[in-house]
Amino acid sequence: MEKKRAIVAESPGPAQAPHAPGPLEGATFVIGAAAAAQLPAPEAPEIAFAGRSNAGKSSAINALARRTRLAYASRTPGRTREINLFRLRGGALVADLPGYGYAAVPRALKQAWQDFLWTYVTTRTTLVGLVLIVDARHGLKPLDLDLLAAFVPSGRPVLILATKSDKLNQAERRGAVAAIREALRTAFPAHVQSVTVIGFSATSRLGLEEADAVLARWIGPASKP
Ligand code: GDP
Repeated sequence: MEKKRAIVAESPGPAQAPHAPGPLEGATFVIGAAAAAQLPAPEAPEIAFAGRSNAGKSSAINALARRTRLAYASRTPGRTREINLFRLRGGALVADLPGYGYAAVPRALKQAWQDFLWTYVTTRTTLVGLVLIVDARHGLKPLDLDLLAAFVPSGRPVLILATKSDKLNQAERRGAVAAIREALRTAFPAHVQSVTVIGFSATSRLGLEEADAVLARWIGPASKP
């Protein structure tokens, strides 16, 4: 079964441009903002990356950017982290939001971060789409659903990368993606069409081109003319 698929995949397809760069390739660091008020005024279309601490957000951003250390995880996840903004070749911005849900963070600080994330996704007028990084083995957790609830009703698109899929076999991977879709159908029945779920791995690069294609649709052509 697998072998047959592999053979089919080898035949060159007309849509396969061999060196088409992904939308995050060539991204450059712009600024780190410690609070929403410090963010630059809204100007270019912005894509935000969010996820629980340790879900694999930095690794996913780096994989999409084809870089090793564009985004980096805080060594001490309990510390306040900034929103890091990156500029893409075409002028759009990527906002790397602080990871949430780290167990050792005091309750009040956790609440402050959640309020901050909620404010960001509900008020950032240039935010064109949200990428949510979820550990494929754990699925959507309550804080992920809280964040989605703040954004999904706006009708703007969401891409869920079910990452670390390399740790699952193919059947488990399919099951993980299906479980996420089912949770979305239950939580947001009117908006499931605006959410795309992709089995992903920063390590094995599974789902990378598929994710590229979704992000390219959000921000338009990758390069300035
Ligand atoms: P962040 O806190 O969400 O930014 O998470 P990181 O990107 O720092 O990843 C957390 C841990 O998961 C690190 O040890 C990574 O090496 C590991 N990791 C991230 N993505 C993957 C993946 O796709 N596959 C595997 N096997 N490990 C991953």
